[in-house]
Amino acid sequence: MRLPANIFAEVETVPTGTCPECDADVHVDSDADKGDSVLCDECGTELEVVGLDPLELDIAEEEDLDDDEDDDDL
Ligand SMILES: [Zn+2]
Repeated sequence: MRLPANIFAEVETVPTGTCPECDADVHVDSDADKGDSVLCDECGTELEVVGLDPLELDIAEEEDLDDDEDDDDL
């Protein structure tokens, strides 16, 4: 179900990005930071916040986790 098009009156400063997978609007926590993960409500794809102004989302793919690369990030 979709609401009528007066969303701009309703939404205050909740950041909204676009799901690269299905083009749906994805609401992100206003505390969200770069690198945070969010789930698309529409398709369930895990997305990563790659930009904040404007908000940009990218698909967070966990394909091959290479054990060869030791980042020592922990
Ligand atoms: Zn989606």
